[in-house]
Amino acid sequence: MAKTIPYKIYLEEQEMPKSWYNLRADMKNKPAPLINPGTHQPMTAEELGGVFCADLVAQELDNDTREFEIPQEILDFYRMYRPSPLVRAYCLEKALGTPAKIYYKFEGNNTSGSHKLNSAIAQAYYAKKQGLKGVTTETGAGQWGTALSMACAYLGLDCKVYMVKVSYEQKPFRREVMRTYGASVTPSPSMETEVGRRILEAHPGTNGSLGCAISEAVEKAVSTEGYRYVLGSVLNQVLLHQSVIGLEAKIAMDKYDIHPDIIIGCAGGGSNLGGLIAPFMGEKLRGEADYRFIAVEPASCPSFTRGKYAFDFCDTGMVCPLAKMYTLGSDFIPSPNHAGGLRYHGMSPVLSQLYHDGYMEAISVPQTEVFTAAEQFARSEGILPAPESSHAIKAAMDEAIKCRETGEEKTILFGLTGTGYFDLYAYESFHDGRMTDYIPTDEDIARSLSKLPKVD
Ligand SMILES: *Cc1c(COP(=O)(O)O)cnc(C)c1O
Repeated sequence: MAKTIPYKIYLEEQEMPKSWYNLRADMKNKPAPLINPGTHQPMTAEELGGVFCADLVAQELDNDTREFEIPQEILDFYRMYRPSPLVRAYCLEKALGTPAKIYYKFEGNNTSGSHKLNSAIAQAYYAKKQGLKGVTTETGAGQWGTALSMACAYLGLDCKVYMVKVSYEQKPFRREVMRTYGASVTPSPSMETEVGRRILEAHPGTNGSLGCAISEAVEKAVSTEGYRYVLGSVLNQVLLHQSVIGLEAKIAMDKYDIHPDIIIGCAGGGSNLGGLIAPFMGEKLRGEADYRFIAVEPASCPSFTRGKYAFDFCDTGMVCPLAKMYTLGSDFIPSPNHAGGLRYHGMSPVLSQLYHDGYMEAISVPQTEVFTAAEQFARSEGILPAPESSHAIKAAMDEAIKCRETGEEKTILFGLTGTGYFDLYAYESFHDGRMTDYIPTDEDIARSLSKLPKVD
């Protein structure tokens, strides 16, 4: 007899994942390695070890180990806010009048307000284990910086955050949360680093960008004894840690014999999407099951849908290694879209390879449509979604509406990555009718792509 599906599916303690799943182990075409911008040779563990913690370098370079045991200290931390709820969106289904079954995995149930805490605690743990004093990072919208501050406070590590200047000024409350957790927060570009001074000289009065803040954070880490740099998305290691999202979702769905037909996630650097789809994509790669995967990006920063698959810098200051990814060019400055977490010029090399090989689809959506969907979701399901997450909501609703038209009872799973409590200026501009849909022209994109590094 079919079991009744509850509104929320939780996992018992003993059902929780004990290992992260490394999707790369099941990929026939592995993602391209990070390469040294000077020599164009793959970065060695030794070179990477100057920037990142040793254990994280090992995870970054490992394309073969399928499972990584989650250390007990991290499991203990996860227990404080995981499992994240897997919710059946009965009310949204009803509001849409769709026969589709919609599920979402909600990662906004912790103080940092997003999925980023899953990797922040892991990265801080390995830094601590190595005996380091602290870590540096950048934050755009503030979610990553907040998550890392929480993790560092828990483990007693220093945390130095370079926050994109425009966010620093527009999101003072995010800044205060980070300071509450003991982090030091510097608006970027700053005069504290050589690259910051160089960028300020070239672009006085700049609002900053994620790529620029990354350059500053890396420089600070490599020039300060006992510090390493940590990054909240894009990297292989981050996708590995975020696999906990997909693993929990799969265990919960398997319990009730639920098979999602379509799995949807918003894509900034690709970490939540890569984590959510990981075990499902693994089955697809091994030929055990089939799913449709959809990456949703903002029309203002369309890396997958309008970018180029090429080696590019991860940062504006060009101090980082090159990654092969779908990119708009490290010089691309996206318009001030409100989904700050999705304003990154590149995309995870793992997801880029999968997309390139045809395992995944991608679409882009303009932000006013995203907020229209966000509002409808909030009114039906109660949760105030983050603008980033609302890209996935929009795509899930569109798929559900297609089902209403065709009568198909598809099962849709999407990642609801965070809450929108720190995004009320964005909601305000939407409600006041001031929100616009800036979409870059082909010329804009061609201009930044023309500056891609030449790698054969
Ligand atoms: C950072 C962020 C994202 C985008 O990052 P990914 O690495 O692509 O997952 C999406 N949603 C929220 C709430 C975020 O904070």
